[in-house]
Amino acid sequence: MAWTRFTKKKDMPGGLWIKCESCGSMLFRKEFESKHRVCASCGYHFTLPGRERVELTADEGSFQELFADLRAEDRLGFVDRVPYAEKLTQTQAKTGEADAMIVGTATVHGIPCVLGVMNFAFLGGSMGMVVGEKVARAVETAIERKVPVILFACSGGARMHEGAISLMQMAKSCAALSKLNAAGGFSISVMTHPTTGGVTASFASVCDLLIAEPGALIGFAGPRVIATTIKKELPKGFQRAEFLLEKGQIDRIVARDQLRGELAKLMAYATGRDVVLAAQTPPKAEPVAVAQCATEPGKKRGKGKRDKSAGSGDGKRGATGAEA
Ligand SMILES: [Zn+2]
Repeated sequence: MAWTRFTKKKDMPGGLWIKCESCGSMLFRKEFESKHRVCASCGYHFTLPGRERVELTADEGSFQELFADLRAEDRLGFVDRVPYAEKLTQTQAKTGEADAMIVGTATVHGIPCVLGVMNFAFLGGSMGMVVGEKVARAVETAIERKVPVILFACSGGARMHEGAISLMQMAKSCAALSKLNAAGGFSISVMTHPTTGGVTASFASVCDLLIAEPGALIGFAGPRVIATTIKKELPKGFQRAEFLLEKGQIDRIVARDQLRGELAKLMAYATGRDVVLAAQTPPKAEPVAVAQCATEPGKKRGKGKRDKSAGSGDGKRGATGAEA
């Protein structure tokens, strides 16, 4: 029957087009990707893959991955539809990532920092032992090097396959950030769509500055669960970045194409650098010398799409807050 062809509108030929989840516009995939997955019609910010986030944030060639060898273990022998151990192996093969967090040192507009980026493609960016450990180690690296740490959250919450171990990561990551705070360090949390569950309830919410991308869903339990529990209609825009900014839960909303410059400015403020210089286009950065760098084998670091024209970024080690 000919009419059955029209029942699956989502399957566009060759994946050339993509439908906006928010406004329904058809977007040409190439253009969509060149805009770093932001809808050209309505500005909806789609979830960005972890590696793309690193590429978009760090100065070209500056990112040096750390702790890439950390692997999760199936301590509970957890069996769902697929046993957890098997699920891990499958997801690792599918994504080319060891777990849902990428950590490393980098420069942003010439300012050295530690970056932690969650990857939603890996089991919904769920926080298990590896994610928690990587966050803690990222923060500890920032303390050692006296540089700011930036953590990008994008998560469905705790990894239930690891039971209580996944919940312990909340305390662990918060304890590390508390240590950073006591040492006078500086941390920025960037909450992207979606940031939920144990990640919202831990490290993503306790950094010095809380930034969100426009329209990001940020919350603990999902809106449907809350509405069913309290048996009330939820206010318009509930749990969205704009709503949370209005309520004082987050500090600011920054669009994806502005984020890098904004992070550079904020780090410049915090580390006593020239803010105007920091906001300018970065120079071609030199890789930060890292002793224990472990880059994942066979993983290509894509070339940056950023402007390479000369700019500021003094690269000098200003008096970071951590020295105070
Ligand atoms: Zn749209």
